Amino acid sequence: LPDPDLITLEADDVGFAWRVPGPSDDKYTQGVTGIAAGSSTYPGAAVLSTGAAVLATSGMVRYAGWAADHVRDRWPEVVATGTVEDAGRVQAWVVGPGLGTGQTGRDVLTAVFSDGVPTCVDADGITLLAATPALWDARDPDAPVVLTPHAGEFARIAEPLGITLGADRVAAARALAKRLDAVVLLKGNATVVAAPDGRTLVNAATSSWLATAGSGDVLTGLIGALLASGLDPWLAAGCAAWLHVRSAELAAHDAPVPASLIQQAIPAAIRAARNLV
Ligand code: AMP
Ligand code: MG
Repeated sequence: LPDPDLITLEADDVGFAWRVPGPSDDKYTQGVTGIAAGSSTYPGAAVLSTGAAVLATSGMVRYAGWAADHVRDRWPEVVATGTVEDAGRVQAWVVGPGLGTGQTGRDVLTAVFSDGVPTCVDADGITLLAATPALWDARDPDAPVVLTPHAGEFARIAEPLGITLGADRVAAARALAKRLDAVVLLKGNATVVAAPDGRTLVNAATSSWLATAGSGDVLTGLIGALLASGLDPWLAAGCAAWLHVRSAELAAHDAPVPASLIQQAIPAAIRAARNLV
């Protein structure tokens, strides 16, 4: 029997979900996305995540972290403050890409969680949560979290909880979402997005051109922008996954494409969703 809670998103769904500014909107009502990512080892992750948020939002993007100069050089629109605590009015955070897994990363994650807004945790953020469960327990339980593990990160956080990633990726994502009370976006060819209440979607569209360094960082910026616009976190993650695939397909034209160019195709992917092309 088909599973009634398992859906797939169409272009129109994404087009309707993306928040179009109206006459009474300003940059704050459109959504302020905060990006806490990057380190001296991985400044590029910060640039890719922040740039994706810039291209997917008409509100404002703030950056907090080591790579502020890199981010400013590439994206003059971004307000790059020093720390997470300095970044005011953020409506959704992205934390983790290239962050590092040491004490600095732990402090950043703690600061983001104490802001009490919807948060996408990826990459080193997931590794930190797996290593230090107290970070997770200390978060504001009313602020929704979207976790975006690839298979390796999934194993790291789920196996200590007794959840293994077998052949049934939908079941695994659902089990972790329920256990952690978070949206789980499980990456791979056919991305699964599971909500704690059982709603699950599988992104039927897929693009193998996404199998390239930095593409996951681009996805986090998309999720952050959609979360900050006020979308339901499960829908935000699903729409971001759709836009991510479409961006890769539009950028690739049947040849390999780096993550920077996937990022640049985000406006075209939004136009495709809104039927403007
Ligand atoms: P990351 O592993 O964090 O860099 O993220 C990689 C991104 O690319 C995720 O969104 C994956 O779903 C996507 N991806 C990687 N490999 C493939 C593939 N072979 N087919 C489709 N999507 C992929
Ligand atoms: Mg990654």
